[in-house]
Amino acid sequence: MIPTRTTLTPDEMPKRWYNILPDLPEPLAPPLNPGTKKPVDPKDFEPIFPKALIRQEMSSESYIDIPDEVLQAYMMANRPSPLQRAVRLEQVLKTPAKIYFKREDLSPAGSHKTNTSIAQAYYNMKEGIENLATETGAGQWGTALSLACNYFGLGCEVFMVRASYDQKPYRREMMRVYGAKVHPSPSDITDFGKKMLAKDPKHPGSLGIAISEAMETAVKGKNTKYSLGSVLNHVMLHQTIIGEETLLQFKKLDEQPDYMIGCVGGGSNFAGFTFPAIGEKLKKRMKTEFIAVEPTVVPSLTKGKYEYDFGDTAGMTPLLLMYTLGHEFVPSPIHAGGLRYHGAAPTVSQLVKNKVVKPVSYMQKEVFDAAVMFAKAEGIIPAPETAHAIKAAIDLALEAKKKNEKKIIALNFSGHGLLDLGGYQQYLDGKMT
Ligand SMILES: *Cc1c(COP(=O)(O)O)cnc(C)c1O
Repeated sequence: MIPTRTTLTPDEMPKRWYNILPDLPEPLAPPLNPGTKKPVDPKDFEPIFPKALIRQEMSSESYIDIPDEVLQAYMMANRPSPLQRAVRLEQVLKTPAKIYFKREDLSPAGSHKTNTSIAQAYYNMKEGIENLATETGAGQWGTALSLACNYFGLGCEVFMVRASYDQKPYRREMMRVYGAKVHPSPSDITDFGKKMLAKDPKHPGSLGIAISEAMETAVKGKNTKYSLGSVLNHVMLHQTIIGEETLLQFKKLDEQPDYMIGCVGGGSNFAGFTFPAIGEKLKKRMKTEFIAVEPTVVPSLTKGKYEYDFGDTAGMTPLLLMYTLGHEFVPSPIHAGGLRYHGAAPTVSQLVKNKVVKPVSYMQKEVFDAAVMFAKAEGIIPAPETAHAIKAAIDLALEAKKKNEKKIIALNFSGHGLLDLGGYQQYLDGKMT
């Protein structure tokens, strides 16, 4: 028998988040005010974010303590999560490589996103905020924030891209179970939404439009702030609980991964999984290679330009230095909805530019081939986003087979696909291109 799970006890759960900012190869370029092109004054963020999160966004401390209440909520979300070995997949591939996957799908919301939604809801609650507004594409982020707001007693308003609102009712209903108000975006309750609907009453919406609506709601609403599920430094920070746990688990195994792989939408699950190990590599204590996987049709890291761009479509956010396809880029409607973002986190982008992280891209069909192979071997149905990382891991395992090398491959299993079965249906019916 080969053991497949490496677990941590609640006592062993890391008590600090890792902040990569002081360890980056070069200082991170600041966000710019789009009007003046000058660095944004932290005070300018106060209408939308609580002070604690603004401090974390710019912190130069290497570690930040996780509050006790957040650790408690992390346990509700099934932390610490197991590091699991895909023994059966290794056998199917006949590879000498070992393949590990970190189980972020075990959160009740279904993805890694609760690692930051819990932290964000907590800090807002601490500063007396009563409501959070946010956007969601396929619904994973909205679900995670709804769960966290409910946990800490906050109201939650979610602007959900209309195409998903109509086509994916189940995550919408999950959010409502947790007590959130869910609006299809563009909506008729914000000025920006009304403007979009005037142009096209059947507007399918986009993540950028939904961000703009949520920010408008935060700025105009009473005791309301805005919450973002990826891209920003404080979101990457909260996600590092994944990578901190993973380092402890590899220590228990007495192994070091040769490769660490994550899919990239805004970059937060990739960052959370890899940043603690990247910090070690930058200090020459690890030799791991880091691979960021994106869809070929949303190629921000592999084909985008490294330049200042808006985080949203409407141009309401500060300018961020990142790999971007342009804020007006309209991605094709692939099933990995969480990877359809025009840019990528400034931290992840800088690490790509400095060649610490290697970006690769895959087509939807080959990604679903990998997803189904994984599900048949391991029993777990991955989210289409997660399947991008699985595809990269399988390719590396096959390369190791060719060279007869005992490589150790680790991927972040960012979420399950039980609410993405529409995509699987299309694939199985042979209707996916
Ligand atoms: C949201 C999401 C992603 C992509 O977002 P990142 O910010 O890049 O992590 C990946 N996988 C799943 C399951 C998601 O829900």
